[in-house]
Amino acid sequence: MKAWNRFVIPILPLSLLLAGYLLSHSPAAQSQAKQEAGGEQALQAFAAIRPIDVHVHVFKTDPAFQSMLERLHLKVMNILVMDDTLSYRKQLAPQIKGTLALVRSSQGHIAWCTTFDPYKFDEASFDSDSIRQINRDFRDGAVAVKIWKNIGMEIKNRDGKFIMADDPKFAPIYKDIAQHGKTLMAHLAEPDVAWGPPDPSDPSWSYYQENPQWFLYNKPGFPSKQEILQARDHVLAENPNLRMVGLHLGSMEKDLDDIARHFDRYPNFAIDMAARMEYLMIAPPDKVYAFLIKYQDRVLYGTDLDFLPDADIKDTLKDWQSTYTRDWKFLATDEPLEYEGKKIRGLKLPQPVLQKIFRDNARHWIPGL
Ligand SMILES: [Zn+2]
Repeated sequence: MKAWNRFVIPILPLSLLLAGYLLSHSPAAQSQAKQEAGGEQALQAFAAIRPIDVHVHVFKTDPAFQSMLERLHLKVMNILVMDDTLSYRKQLAPQIKGTLALVRSSQGHIAWCTTFDPYKFDEASFDSDSIRQINRDFRDGAVAVKIWKNIGMEIKNRDGKFIMADDPKFAPIYKDIAQHGKTLMAHLAEPDVAWGPPDPSDPSWSYYQENPQWFLYNKPGFPSKQEILQARDHVLAENPNLRMVGLHLGSMEKDLDDIARHFDRYPNFAIDMAARMEYLMIAPPDKVYAFLIKYQDRVLYGTDLDFLPDADIKDTLKDWQSTYTRDWKFLATDEPLEYEGKKIRGLKLPQPVLQKIFRDNARHWIPGL
């Protein structure tokens, strides 16, 4: 279907068109005020759907942060990550302790997704320790388990080989997660651009400037993206009772057809949109629209927004609210938006589809949210 036509041929009375023209040529101050009012309107519509953001990283709270969650009727899922390249993510125990305190103080606005320590992969008790710990976390309210890109891109076993997601050592852990009816949140691999060559026009490019340890171009010996995702697919095939959410558009950010093939092949697979909305914004709009209509039950809203230990509350609130405003405008309205100087327009998805993406799919795919 040519959804884009709805934006190109607006059936509007001439007076409205004229008013629109005049408004778009008004002085800067007026246009800024208009934008802010539009932002507030978008946030109100976002809040009305009682949204769930399945992908955030929150390390502390603040009365202003809590009141934003309340004002937006927002539930977020805080995802723990084991990352030996960042001091505050190196240890698991303090992250769990901190998250439990956050969840308890949040009046139901923060849920959590635990993880286990893949850096202990070679220890004899790796499986049993990991299972004991995640089961304890389930009892403490964790609704999901995260695995991360360090599997496939960083951690090596004692033979010097990169460990992959379908390593038999992980099998009992996946089985345990499925048996508990919990969900595996899988961030495996990275955007194509991580394998290079350098591409400053890619939406993820700035990330690799700040995090060169994950940029693999001209670094021999690393698994290819395809190998990593094949291992992921193998987990899906081997564990039909395990629900898996592939984070960041399942790392297939530039290929909606590939995502569709995965949905058709693996009924236990869904994706989140975290930190990849830009790829949808620059893809052909009628294609994105048709994809989101067809797979409206398989896409979860997530952002990857964070509230880091050293973050300023004012910057954080601004960042969170502007992201929610932009995402709502893009998915729910046909307002003009700008991305990197490129003019785009919102998709204006039907309300029942928005209801699924922003809320119902999260509850379906991650029971307990
Ligand atoms: Zn994340």
